Amino acid sequence: MPELPEVETTLRGITPHISGKQITDIVVRQQKLRWPVPRNLRQLLKNQIIHSIKRRGKYLLFETPAGHVIIHLGMSGSLRIVASHLDPQKHDHVDFVFNKKILRFHDPRRFGSVLWTRKDPLQHKLLQKLGPEPLSKTFHGEYLHTLATAKKVNIKNFIMNSHVVVGVGNIYASESLFLSGIHPQRAAGRVSLSRYEVLANNIQKVLSAAIELGGTSLRDFVKEDGKPGYFANRLNVYNKKGEPCPICKTPIQVRVLGQRSSFFCSHCQH
Ligand SMILES: [Zn+2]
Repeated sequence: MPELPEVETTLRGITPHISGKQITDIVVRQQKLRWPVPRNLRQLLKNQIIHSIKRRGKYLLFETPAGHVIIHLGMSGSLRIVASHLDPQKHDHVDFVFNKKILRFHDPRRFGSVLWTRKDPLQHKLLQKLGPEPLSKTFHGEYLHTLATAKKVNIKNFIMNSHVVVGVGNIYASESLFLSGIHPQRAAGRVSLSRYEVLANNIQKVLSAAIELGGTSLRDFVKEDGKPGYFANRLNVYNKKGEPCPICKTPIQVRVLGQRSSFFCSHCQH
């Protein structure tokens, strides 16, 4: 599933190709994504200029004078820049056509979305309740500690909740808890401020490293240039059940928390 680093990598990859450019046409081949693509998307966007492209959580926001396109990659979506003569393949659902290029939205599982709003996109119902960006100044240990007061939910599900902080997916939650020595099943309300400071720091470190490396290379994700990311080689615990812990050699364990597999070292994390 594309996580925040992949979305950020996508943003950086497509921006130079489409920012400041005029949309000459829109082609919608499949309207049924997670939410229906607006029927009038073509009328809305034809001849509009993309002023800026931003990311909020895992949403990409294309700003035009008429309003904003809101894109989410869902479970298996990707955005790629292709030459205008390239024929669409299976699962290429939406094309943003520019003068010499196409921005192509591809999504085999169709959990992604292409939406439209004339209003402030940050106030859109999907975005308005999102927590802070993990790489922003408003995200820090004290913020997490205060929010976690008396919470019984386990720390892993707490940091994966997008109302707490956006973009900490399963991989990044497992890895940052390992680096912080915190057991994923510990109650969020029973983690000290100093440990939250370490954790916030490690979340930022893990996400920044992944962005630097262009995201992980998990199954469906392909970077906009078609090559997989390289972060997978740097993982300590994620997907490493039974392998020795990089610190103490105890075999890595796996437990399902909130329907997601959680990988950890029972010796180093408590
Ligand atoms: Zn260990």
